Amino acid sequence: MTTSGKTVSFKELGFSNTRDMFAKAMKGGYAVPAYNFNNMEQLQAIITACVQSRSPVILQVSKGAREYANATLLRYMGLGAIQMMNEMGNPVPVALHLDHGDSFDLAQSCIDSGFSSVMIDGSALPYEQNIELTRKVGEYAHPRDVTVEGELGVLAGIEEHVSSEKSHYTDPRDVEDFVKRTGVDSLAISIGTSHGAFKFKIKPGESVPPLRFDILEEVERRIPGFPIVLHGASSVLTPYIEMINKYGGKMEGAVGVPEEQLRRAAKSAVCKINIDSDGRLVMTAIIRKVFAEKPGEFDPRKYLGPAREELVKMYISKNEAVLGSAGKA
Ligand SMILES: [Zn+2]
Repeated sequence: MTTSGKTVSFKELGFSNTRDMFAKAMKGGYAVPAYNFNNMEQLQAIITACVQSRSPVILQVSKGAREYANATLLRYMGLGAIQMMNEMGNPVPVALHLDHGDSFDLAQSCIDSGFSSVMIDGSALPYEQNIELTRKVGEYAHPRDVTVEGELGVLAGIEEHVSSEKSHYTDPRDVEDFVKRTGVDSLAISIGTSHGAFKFKIKPGESVPPLRFDILEEVERRIPGFPIVLHGASSVLTPYIEMINKYGGKMEGAVGVPEEQLRRAAKSAVCKINIDSDGRLVMTAIIRKVFAEKPGEFDPRKYLGPAREELVKMYISKNEAVLGSAGKA
């Protein structure tokens, strides 16, 4: 039961699960974008960008977003986004996905309130407990045709409720057993991406450590054709960091995953790439710029509006130049 007491299937709301999206992405050598949203402007920007660039899209809601925006409101925002898209004409496939679900109850609540896909993140648990929790979510999700993402290995960095000092790369020897025993539809792995805007501690002039493509290749060899997910895959785009710092912010040392490494990953079995921080940075940069240049501005539409416009540009550029999902809807 949802907080509003009514159970609804994602199909009634017009969402798609990720099964077909990933099958096409695997065949086509691209990745589907998974963009997080917490508010109206982000949601509008994601939908607008993906309709314009003809890309399938996964709308991600974290536990923190549900707490921030209210679970019932979020569900209706998702529904509103689908209806807005249909009215724009030429809709694209949209999944509504729980990001980093940490309990069976949370996953169940999302499934009952119309999510088409859920992540159950048991990666911090001992291996057997991760399997047990993930399998249990799958048993509830699959009869309802909801797809499930599991995780093996731990990413470094901070994202909402998820934080870890150090990353533990996925051990490729575990993936066959995990996938078989949990019945998951996709698997998030740790190959060096990281949550947040400060992904790597490097000195000026040093380049970021490359992703562990050797681990990815070994995973692909062991579970051929199985959809892989990369979390923490923002590039922490330099122009926006510079804009933030120029207009009174303080984000020295922020660094992300270079886009060409993500391009390479998207061509492999990686079918879903999660991007959250880049959206946050764009919003912050533009809002800071408006505040600095027009200190008398007090209408939220006058700073959230330009932030939304810039977000559309950034998402289109990701779809076209990084994920390769543009034109694939
Ligand atoms: Zn994540």
